[in-house]
Amino acid sequence: MTLKNEYDVIVIGAGIAGISAAVKAGRSGVSVLLVEQYGFVGGMSTAGMVSPFMKHEVNGETLVRGVFEDLENEMRRQNGMIDNGFFANSFRSASYHLLKEVGCIVLLHAAISAVTKTDHHVESITVFVSGKEITIRGKVFIDTSGDAQLLFLAGLPWLKGDEKTGLLQALTLFFRMGNIDIAKVTEYAKANKKEFFDWMEYDFDLTKIISVAGYFSIVKKAIQEQRLSPEVQYIFFTTLPESGEGSFNTSNILEVDGSSSLDLTKAEIAGRRQVHQVVTVLRNEVPGFENSYLIETAPQVGVRETRRAVGDYAVTGEDIKRGNKFDDSIARGCYGIDIHGQKDENSRMEHLADGDYYEIPLRSLIVKEADNVLAAGRCISSTREGHSALRIQPTSSATGEACGALAALAASSKRELRAVGYSEVQGRILYNITQK
Ligand SMILES: Cc1cc2nc3c(=O)[nH]c(=O)nc-3n(C[C@H](O)[C@H](O)[C@H](O)COP(=O)(O)OP(=O)(O)OC[C@H]3O[C@@H](n4cnc5c(N)ncnc54)[C@H](O)[C@@H]3O)c2cc1C
Repeated sequence: MTLKNEYDVIVIGAGIAGISAAVKAGRSGVSVLLVEQYGFVGGMSTAGMVSPFMKHEVNGETLVRGVFEDLENEMRRQNGMIDNGFFANSFRSASYHLLKEVGCIVLLHAAISAVTKTDHHVESITVFVSGKEITIRGKVFIDTSGDAQLLFLAGLPWLKGDEKTGLLQALTLFFRMGNIDIAKVTEYAKANKKEFFDWMEYDFDLTKIISVAGYFSIVKKAIQEQRLSPEVQYIFFTTLPESGEGSFNTSNILEVDGSSSLDLTKAEIAGRRQVHQVVTVLRNEVPGFENSYLIETAPQVGVRETRRAVGDYAVTGEDIKRGNKFDDSIARGCYGIDIHGQKDENSRMEHLADGDYYEIPLRSLIVKEADNVLAAGRCISSTREGHSALRIQPTSSATGEACGALAALAASSKRELRAVGYSEVQGRILYNITQK
């Protein structure tokens, strides 16, 4: 594999947003480089082992299609996706398949370490490759690093955390367990409803993913007896149908900033300690877990929130709650505000009314003070509340895909991003903005 000195579109970070951006730009016929610091693609979807895909249907209509649906179909073809849950391994191989199909150059094991910029124009990135720094030029840059790393290095504007307190959402180290007696788990839940969250549904269909969240008394007792970290507030997992496996979104790591290597180190260690404690409690005390075992912990702790871009528009909590619509809509979502509380901060989950959805404007992808930089996925321009809704995987894919469409249009016609009309972009992604 050889690298060119210049690409039409350079995408930083190969999470679901970056993959979707790169595939879409590649499908539009421009040259694309996708740069990823890890030795594999997927970001939170694989390194963080986050599954399942969050809700993205309204009145039976799927809001996110395009590259996202292609990724789902490829995972299903590989038997790596059941219902809306998937295996990290399948996510990786399905992504490579889509990226290869469009001729996108994927550069792994390569963290960007510097950015050159003249006035409002980003010229190049410096990437640490094979022990030395190389410089690669681009026409349009897309920041899908989750941490707005390109903007940070370029001195472009970004924000972090709650507008008043600066707080960032809690982190969670995902893990998976096997050989769970799911039927026994559901029987216990039905007989002990007060031990679980009131949003739980008890008409369990074991051929589909089921969610179990609570075990309040067991958790409280384990904390009182100092067998469990007090940060763990409840046990939450989703099953993988008919497999006896569960994916646990349970550890709760507070007072760390996921864009700091030092804090992340602390979080990795704290997360693994919590996982060990939770597994012990489950095996010893929870019906259905008697013969279960820990399969794996995620390679990296899950980070919900760090830096976000400052764009021409910031999607707000009000936009989400009111289901606001925009002329320059490039994506739709129906997931509500979901803030996993920090220390001394209450968690919030505010659902949209049934049948309601919001639109995401193109302006929220275009980074202020730059004429050739876009940001999508977890670092999209938004307020903290807006971000908490937009960060989920289907929406991250849709905003990434819209960036890919706009970047390709601008690069192939030698126009600046703001000179491309929104209706031109919409024409390339109609399936994500209009009804089927
Ligand atoms: C604990 C937790 C639970 C969640 N639960 C759900 C859920 O149930 N359903 C759902 O749909 N969503 C869920 N989410 C949200 C969702 O997983 C993420 O917000 C989404 O996957 C973000 O995708 P992304 O592509 O924007 O960013 P990321 O997945 O974070 O990808 C960013 C990529 O950029 C790379 N990168 C960063 N810096 C550099 C650099 N300097 N150079 C090169 N590469 C770099 C990273 O390695 C990474 O691969 C959850 C998130 C967490 C943390």
